[in-house]
Amino acid sequence: MHQEIIERFNSLKEKQISIDITRGKPDKDQLDLSNDLIDISIPTSSDDGADLRNYGEPFGIIEARRLGSELLNAPIENILAGEQSSLLLTYQTVLSNFLFAEPIPWKNLKNPKFICPVPGFDRHFMMLEDFGIEAVPIPLTDDGIDLNAFEDVLKTGDDYVGILCVPKHSNPSGEIYSDENLKKMFEIGSQYSNKFLFLFDHAYLIHDFLPTPEQKPLWQVVEESNVQDQTVVTTSFSKVTFGGGGISFMATSGHSLDLIKKVRTTMIICPDKLNQKRHVEFFKNVENIKSHMKKHAELVRPKFELAYDYLKKLPEECGSFSKPTGGYFITYSTSKPIASKVVKLCKDLGVLITPAGSTFPKNYDPNDSVIRLAPTYVSKEELADAMNVFTTYVEVAHFERYKIFLHFLQKHDKRVGLFLV
Ligand code: PMP
Repeated sequence: MHQEIIERFNSLKEKQISIDITRGKPDKDQLDLSNDLIDISIPTSSDDGADLRNYGEPFGIIEARRLGSELLNAPIENILAGEQSSLLLTYQTVLSNFLFAEPIPWKNLKNPKFICPVPGFDRHFMMLEDFGIEAVPIPLTDDGIDLNAFEDVLKTGDDYVGILCVPKHSNPSGEIYSDENLKKMFEIGSQYSNKFLFLFDHAYLIHDFLPTPEQKPLWQVVEESNVQDQTVVTTSFSKVTFGGGGISFMATSGHSLDLIKKVRTTMIICPDKLNQKRHVEFFKNVENIKSHMKKHAELVRPKFELAYDYLKKLPEECGSFSKPTGGYFITYSTSKPIASKVVKLCKDLGVLITPAGSTFPKNYDPNDSVIRLAPTYVSKEELADAMNVFTTYVEVAHFERYKIFLHFLQKHDKRVGLFLV
């Protein structure tokens, strides 16, 4: 066995690998699916006569909002069609509450806190940190948030202002929230306070690549639970058309809608209406968006399956991995506290993985266990090499085989040997 790992390592080292699987980005072949968007011909005005070339329509052109309304299953009056980034809309939501929430802006609270299911999206934690809002982690279960933990945390104080969730193909571990989980979350959160904000980053709303459990449209559950005014849902086409070149949408209502309008009115006169029109002309309706996403699925699925094939070969005692049916990430959870070690070892051999801990607030994973893998933005050959390195080092770290390597490497290559200790 030792000899087998050494041989595997040696052949990987000879390849002089340099592979980056840190971020969930669409690969070139996925981007090519939308090339017709680049020079699509569009009229100069919107369906209701707004000049697309000039200022105006601060909440998006009517046909983009209609598309957003179909996509998020929310009435058009609750839909804003924005620029290319849903993360920006999420940030603006937090900013608007921070400055202007009623009756008390969050900036005037002593210690405002947000509940964040973990593992989660590193940029969400960075955003909350920007505002000095404490991100309080609660665990995820297979069908959404751990409701008992949610309830228990809320019992501990008055300063909780909201929860931030990725309700489908959660980044990074792929959970799909059940309707029941969402309903219960709404019940507990709104009992705590009718100002408690349910903030949903629906980045992977239409990103299935394997059969996926059905979810009721989120806004429908929101309406059934009567929490429209304290809910904000965002999504975008960043992983539908072009990364950072799509359009974004938000669904919200009442006070939350007023707040986002207020903050945006100061900071942006209007979104890029030409890009909105191009997208509407390109897709025309949600059915076409769904067919387009099937083409993405065909390109993405083989990469995930390839990654699963490698992970399956790891001895079970080393840890477990998520097997998402959509989205952009896989998580591997080591059974020993070795995640940082594994990431470092992989880096030394030329495979960059998202830093361990980054899927937790303050970069602190108490078990040093969760590793996020992003298999999309590399070729299958590169991914195979990266997974080979990764699984080799999980075994090396789990079975504490550094000394074997050190001995071997000092005999053959002192420089790399030093990296490994
Ligand atoms: N939210 C989540 C959960 C994401 O994973 C990503 C992209 N990695 C984003 C938002 C970014 O989306 P956008 O480009 O629309 O800002």
